[in-house]
Amino acid sequence: MALHISKSKYLNGLQCPKLLRPSFTQRAPNPDPSPCQMHIFNTGHEIGDLAKLVYPDGIEVPMNYEDLAATDRDTAELLNRPSAERVPIFEASVLIDNRYCRVDVLVPIPDETGEEPNRWDLVEVKSSTRVRDVNINDVAFQYDALTRAGIVLRNLYLMHVNTAYVRGEEFDVQQSFPLEDITDRAHNVLEYVPRTVDKMLTVIAGPDPDTPIGKRCTSPYTCPLIPHCWSVLPENNVTDLYYSGVRAFGYLDEGLFSIVDVPDERLTHQQKIQKKAIASGAPYTDAAHLRGWLDELVYPVYHLDFETMNPALPPFPGLRPYQRIPFQFSLHIQDSPGAEPRHVEFLAREPGDPRAAMVAALHAIGDEGSILAWAMGFEKGVLNDMAELFPAEAEWLVELTDRMVDLMVPFRSFWYHHPDQKGSCSLKAVLPAITELSYDELDIADGNHASRAYDEAIYGSMEPEEKEQVLDHLLAYCKLDTLAMVEILGALEAV
Ligand code: SF4
Repeated sequence: MALHISKSKYLNGLQCPKLLRPSFTQRAPNPDPSPCQMHIFNTGHEIGDLAKLVYPDGIEVPMNYEDLAATDRDTAELLNRPSAERVPIFEASVLIDNRYCRVDVLVPIPDETGEEPNRWDLVEVKSSTRVRDVNINDVAFQYDALTRAGIVLRNLYLMHVNTAYVRGEEFDVQQSFPLEDITDRAHNVLEYVPRTVDKMLTVIAGPDPDTPIGKRCTSPYTCPLIPHCWSVLPENNVTDLYYSGVRAFGYLDEGLFSIVDVPDERLTHQQKIQKKAIASGAPYTDAAHLRGWLDELVYPVYHLDFETMNPALPPFPGLRPYQRIPFQFSLHIQDSPGAEPRHVEFLAREPGDPRAAMVAALHAIGDEGSILAWAMGFEKGVLNDMAELFPAEAEWLVELTDRMVDLMVPFRSFWYHHPDQKGSCSLKAVLPAITELSYDELDIADGNHASRAYDEAIYGSMEPEEKEQVLDHLLAYCKLDTLAMVEILGALEAV
């Protein structure tokens, strides 16, 4: 088959020409820049399937990966039906002029005057909460391909998540996923599509491009080839600088690769400390500030961590799309500095709203003592959400937030900085840098994975044995989050 540009390849190519070349993309586990990150709560629907709820009389064009032209023919059959028989088409497929695209939905426009038969609206369905430039380019590419195939389009829409929607007893898909008209914005970039496609075809047929590392590596998507392309950089390079942002790419352009090469006058206070720690190979400590902070802690100290999920489709009345729902916490309790901790945990093991049971379990927290969390804004937010939901517990839950102390502060303030943190103050970076513990051996090792795994275990179709295994992995993961805090606090006490 002739070379063609699909819409995902088009978006890849806009981000970086290297992403058009198999010599690069074969090194990546998933070169598609738009994997669906969503895990939908107890519905079985993918985001794209939502359109089928909005257009219940629509017909889907079956995909034939072996023969794209066959899919194209099936689409043509649906498009060319007599006016009275036309229905919305899901996954309409067009293969023309080196372009290939599948369209989420084509909606027929009734021909009221009899003068404009066979016109369609195009609907692109996204799990995002707003229109982004990448969506405009995506729809413009589709418009270009479809009009080349003789399909007459009227309006172009993005169906995306409305975060202002609050679910009632029933889920209202039209309120939750409204249409936003992007016709004018797509038309504004349309003229660039043909020559961009031509350039991409030239890149695909030519030698590997030598596109440098830059802002494109993380925008609009984090490029899956970063481990490959960035591997040429030395250890402790400028992309590891604390909050370097795009400035790091400027340093690379200037030939400043290592953090130690960057002059002090161009670094922030924290970055200078990071540079100093790297140069000395030893942790930097500000003992006075650290001691002052430790002395403010009130024992017993409670190390608290929540795991939450953020479903696009609110599963319970009163929830908004993407609103967090806590389903698990871990709590380590230390009665005095360095004391062996006691452990308390909660995990909702069955479907349903877990929040009432969680609040009850949180009463393991006593009336006195500091409550430690890492980046505590998140834990405070969860407690405040539950205070709103349960008025009878609100005063107590808000009091808990008043007792919270952020264990990240000594690291964010650079009162302690280990060179192995690589400029990061995340728990995952600090833990292995200053203790013997790490997340390497765990089956679930980050919050996104935990959320997805929980969704699949509780609301998916897992066998009971597999479900129990996943729940055990979740318990191990959340437990390590708070044990990590115990160990890190111990390491700070020992400085
Ligand atoms: S990591 Fe950067 S340079 Fe390498 S392919 Fe991705 S965007 Fe291009």
